[in-house]
Amino acid sequence: NSRWADVPFNPPDSIFGLLEAFHKDPSPNKINLGIGAYRTDSSQPYVLPSVRKAEEKLRKKNLNKEYSFIAGSTEFCQLSFDFALGEDNVISKEGLNATVQTISGTGALSLMALFLKRFYPGEKTIYLPKHTWNNHITVFSFFNLPLDYYRYYDEPARKLDYQGLIEDLSNIPDASMVLFHPCAHNPTGMDPDQDQWVALSRLAKEKDLFVLFDMAYQGFATGDADVDAFAVRQFASEGVPFALSQSWSKNMGLYGERTGALTILGDSKDDVRRILSQLKGKIRAIYSNPPIHGARIVTEILTDPELKQQWLGEMKGMIDRMISVRKVLRESLLKYGSVHDWGHIVKQKGMFCFTGMDAKQVERMTREFKIYMGKDGRISIAGVTTKNVDYIARAMHEVTK
Ligand code: PMP
Repeated sequence: NSRWADVPFNPPDSIFGLLEAFHKDPSPNKINLGIGAYRTDSSQPYVLPSVRKAEEKLRKKNLNKEYSFIAGSTEFCQLSFDFALGEDNVISKEGLNATVQTISGTGALSLMALFLKRFYPGEKTIYLPKHTWNNHITVFSFFNLPLDYYRYYDEPARKLDYQGLIEDLSNIPDASMVLFHPCAHNPTGMDPDQDQWVALSRLAKEKDLFVLFDMAYQGFATGDADVDAFAVRQFASEGVPFALSQSWSKNMGLYGERTGALTILGDSKDDVRRILSQLKGKIRAIYSNPPIHGARIVTEILTDPELKQQWLGEMKGMIDRMISVRKVLRESLLKYGSVHDWGHIVKQKGMFCFTGMDAKQVERMTREFKIYMGKDGRISIAGVTTKNVDYIARAMHEVTK
């Protein structure tokens, strides 16, 4: 009798499970639109030339492989935070950000959850948008934080449910914790506009909310990283307290380098000193200190003005390709005579298209057309190319007739 006989089976993560099924499928026509990783128009992973150049520069420096600090590279932390808040932001100037390097965005969220579970004063429920990235639920539940939801997406109208959002957030208890995707909402692709963010920031201020920003896609909504940071900067200017998770996976294409940052704002330098000490204590217990290579790449790019410009151009190139393929996808669907409008495909922002297809239709997409995608109808627009868009449109048309 095995000592592990009572270990229950944990169902695979739906998106990574999809990846496994995709790799096992022998069909030559198979297409993976499940996972959110950018692909070129030739369906290849993309290492940005600016990242290659940064690595070249790093190689020439012949750096050693010593451990990083527990909180990672101090320079990387500050560069990351300032990339979100803008150069010369008041918070950095006053030293009110407790920022640590993390195992990318997911690691930042886990550490955030761990910290809030232990130290957030009062009610620890996290309010999430309905819908949200599935892993938010996994991460916050893992740390035993109670979850609740606010209305976010109007399914039938395929748009932001702004009225519902405001109503629900007005009705939650004061000083609650609320999570926002500041740009390129995953999975719906629908973000509040700037006026709506202003109203939300004032509501947050009025209700003394604590905001959890999960910024995994800065630059990926509009192609302009400053525009995409509007929400975070707006809340900062209103003086709303927040925690911020950042990821360099998408905008710099550093997926496997696991490069990100977590910030928790303090009200004073002394807050920051104590918050940092706690974050470091937790990091030391879990993985001791973060990997060095990704942080070095980010630092190299952000501190070399020419290289930074190149990178921003390459990032914009990725977004432009996704925006243009959204248009082609919609046009192709209409060309096939679809009776649906599909306007939401071009309105949505970022890496995903929340198609509105139901579970049965998604099942047919995979079984009949070998197109792998989220059960909730989400496709990664980054996997759609000028070569496969026609096939995808035909499949979508067939299953939604
Ligand atoms: N938040 C959201 C909303 C995401 O979509 C992702 C990536 N899929 C992440 C966080 C974290 O990604 P990573 O751990 O690669 O930074």
